[in-house]
Amino acid sequence: MSEPRTLLAIDHVSKNFGRVTAVDGISLDIRENEFFALLGPSGCGKTTLLRMLAGFETPSDGRILLDGKDIARTPPNKRPVNLMFQSYALFPHMSVRANVSYGLEMERLPSAEIRSRVDAILATTELVPFADRKPEQLSGGQKQRVALARALVKRPRLLLLDEPLGALDKKLRGAMQLELKRLQHEVGITFVIVTHDQEESLVMADRMAVLKDGKLLQCDTPHAIYEHPADRFVADFIGVMNFVPGKVSADGVIAANGVRIAGKVPATLAPGASAVASMRPERIRLFPSDETANRATGTVEALAYHGLDLQLHVRTPLSAKPFLVRVTADAADRRPVSSGDQVELGWDAADVRIFAE
Ligand code: ATP
Repeated sequence: MSEPRTLLAIDHVSKNFGRVTAVDGISLDIRENEFFALLGPSGCGKTTLLRMLAGFETPSDGRILLDGKDIARTPPNKRPVNLMFQSYALFPHMSVRANVSYGLEMERLPSAEIRSRVDAILATTELVPFADRKPEQLSGGQKQRVALARALVKRPRLLLLDEPLGALDKKLRGAMQLELKRLQHEVGITFVIVTHDQEESLVMADRMAVLKDGKLLQCDTPHAIYEHPADRFVADFIGVMNFVPGKVSADGVIAANGVRIAGKVPATLAPGASAVASMRPERIRLFPSDETANRATGTVEALAYHGLDLQLHVRTPLSAKPFLVRVTADAADRRPVSSGDQVELGWDAADVRIFAE
C-alpha cells in the first residue's frame, strides 16, 4: 500500500488571546481523504484550531501548510476550505436548492454547471424530495444535510465541521454519525470534525487528535488510542477505565495490601514511583478459571442491565472507587450475580496499562 498523502500540515501552531494560550505548539498532519477528529474537553482549544484552519483566526506562531503551501495568513474565501457551522446558518427565505446553489452562483459559474453539480449533491445527500422546501419545513437531520450539501457542492479540499451533530437528539446523532462517514467516503473530501464526544470520534474518525489545555496529547487511530492511551488523562477521557493506585515494581504495580498487578511498566517509570494500573471494564472476567496474578475479590454493589451486557460495580480493596466490570448477558445468564454477592475478578497482564499518577 502506498503511503497516505499529507493534505494539511499543522506545524508548531500556537494561538494566544492576550494572556490566554488557547493553542500551544501543536504539530500534526491530516491526510488526503481522511475523516479526522479533534477531540478534547471544553476549553482545550479545538475550536480555535479549527478556526485557524478555516482562516477566521491567524496563528500567533507556526505554519499551516495545505499541499505544502503556507495558508496561515490566507483569507477564508481564498482557501479551498469550507467550514460548516453548528447552527447550519441556512438562508431561511430560500429553498433547499437555492441554499445549495448560492455559493456556486457567487462564483459566477455557468448555470448548466451549477444545475448539474447541485443535482448531484442533492442526490448524494438524499435531499431531492425536499429541494423546493424552505429550511423551516425540514427536520433537524434534513437541515443538517442541507448545510453539508451547501458546503460540499463547492468541492473544497477540506471540510471543517464544528460539532456538526450537536443540535441533534441522541437517536438521530447515532444515525447521522454513520451517514456522515458514508458521505465523506463517497465524496472523497477530507473532513476535520471538532467534537467533545469521545464516542462520536471513535465511531467516525479514521484518526483523531486528543487535546488538553491547548496541547496535543495523542494523535492516532481510535483503536490505537483506545488500546494504548498515551497517558492517564487520555485513558480516562476515551472510554471507561478502572484505575488502581500503587507503586511501580519490576513487572507491574504493587497495590494496596501488597496485591501485585502484573503489566508492562513504561520505561519512564522508575521502581518505587507512584503509578496507576488500569484496565477496561470489558477486559475483566468474573470468576476467572485460570490462575493469574491479576485477581481481586470484591462485593457487587450495583448492577445495571444494558441489553447486550451487564455492568457491575464491584467494591474491592484495590481502589477507593468500585471497579466497573462489563460482562456479556450470556455470561451473566450462565452464572447470575446479584447485589451483595462476593465475586472473583481476573484480567490478563496484556490488558493492563500502567501510567504515571
Ligand atoms: P468548547 O468545547 O467549550 O467550545 P474548545 O475546546 O473549542 O471549547 P476554544 O473555544 O478553542 O476551546 O477555547 C480555548 C481557550 O481559549 C479557552 O480558554 C477560551 O476561553 C479561550 N478563548 C477562545 N477564544 C477566545 C477569544 N476570542 N478571546 C479570549 N480567549 C479566547
